[in-house]
Amino acid sequence: MQKLRQKVILGHLALLAGGALVGSLYDQVLIGLLVAALLGLGWHVRQLLRFEQALRDRHFGSLRYGDGIWSQLYSRFNYQRSQSKQYKKSYRQLLKEVRKSTNAMPDGGIILNRDFEIVLCNKAAQRLAGFRRHQDRGHRVDNILRDPAFGNYLNAGVFDKGIEIRSPTREGGWLLCRIVPYGADQLLLLIQDITERRRLAAMRRDFVANASHELRSPLTVVSGYLDTLAEEEDIPAHWQKPLMQMKTQASRMNKIVAELLELSRLEGAGAAPTDEIVDICGLLAAAKKSLAGRNDIPKIDIQCNSRAQLHGSTAEIESVIVNLMSNAIRHTPVEGQVTMTWASDRDGANLSVTDTGIGIEPEHIPRLTERFFRVDPGRSRDDGGVGLGLAIVKHVLERHEAKLQIESVPGSGSRFACHFPPGRIVAAEPVPIAGSSSI
Ligand code: ADP
Repeated sequence: MQKLRQKVILGHLALLAGGALVGSLYDQVLIGLLVAALLGLGWHVRQLLRFEQALRDRHFGSLRYGDGIWSQLYSRFNYQRSQSKQYKKSYRQLLKEVRKSTNAMPDGGIILNRDFEIVLCNKAAQRLAGFRRHQDRGHRVDNILRDPAFGNYLNAGVFDKGIEIRSPTREGGWLLCRIVPYGADQLLLLIQDITERRRLAAMRRDFVANASHELRSPLTVVSGYLDTLAEEEDIPAHWQKPLMQMKTQASRMNKIVAELLELSRLEGAGAAPTDEIVDICGLLAAAKKSLAGRNDIPKIDIQCNSRAQLHGSTAEIESVIVNLMSNAIRHTPVEGQVTMTWASDRDGANLSVTDTGIGIEPEHIPRLTERFFRVDPGRSRDDGGVGLGLAIVKHVLERHEAKLQIESVPGSGSRFACHFPPGRIVAAEPVPIAGSSSI
């Protein structure tokens, strides 16, 4: 590089010196210098125009040979051109591979821009949801996938979960659509066929519901006879204890069957109604009142910190309160305390049940809402638990778009908090803590 620079400078100086020498022969040194400079400039302009012409015609053969600095420029230019050709080729190859693999994917994939307009889609998206590769490019995705629930999902802009919608191309088919944001403002819409998964879930639900339903009638008969027998005065003494045990177990089975049926109903139902208004403070007060006079349970305190009410199902929210309260009482010693709180703010409202009971080890917390899961099955059975209460709570909350949060410190107590989104709250007017009512 250094050498070339020296060569170019020396070449130009030699040209000027030559011009000056020839000029001096005629006693015109300056004119000789000027003519030499003009000759040099003219030569460069000619090379420049040739270069420009070659670029314009995209005819680079003429750039193979050049003189002086131009030969270097041409060879550098040709080298860069062949390099970029190589890159282009390998990128094209890579793109082909990516396209082939995305087309082989069983799930639909659609690239969207930040305005939810379609940039690209794979074959599965065409097959599963009826997208057309070229015609639909540039169209908003909810103009193609016209399910109102999907439109609401897009507009809400919360993409931590997907949404299940009916397949637009297959009768009875179901799709799980999920948006995954990536890059600066690109989005990937993933579409999965969940028809089979839903069919199996429905089969399991129907089986449990049918089995529970079939068990109900014989159980009612057995319970009826047991009740009649228990009322008999001349029952032999040695039969009284077994009879009581049979009665307890029959009522336990009745409870299991009723809760299984309730779970099946909740699983099959969609969102909870929005036209019914639930008075949470009233329900909390009623739940506490139902235990009035009992001195074998801890003290129950109700903090009603908000006048906000809820859009939802009164019967279902009542079952949430009763389940959480019953759990708290059963796992808290008599000298402990159970506090039920209702509060709201701009982010929604919280219904929480806090106790100072035995608490739960952290490894059990993620499993508490599973059906029949109990930390201590023996203890739960003895105090009337069947292991379905929190599963019911979870399903009711899902139907109300609410979330259950469980915090616990073993040996100190637990807090079960249900968070309801603002959309479910009626007149969510926070009442200052100082003015909270303790019922
Ligand atoms: P169960 O009918 O056994 O109460 P749940 O589904 O309501 O069934 O609760 C599942 C398990 O969670 C209980 O068996 C118990 O081990 C644990 N649990 C629930 N609430 C509490 C609580 N407040 N304190 C301690 N453990 C609890």
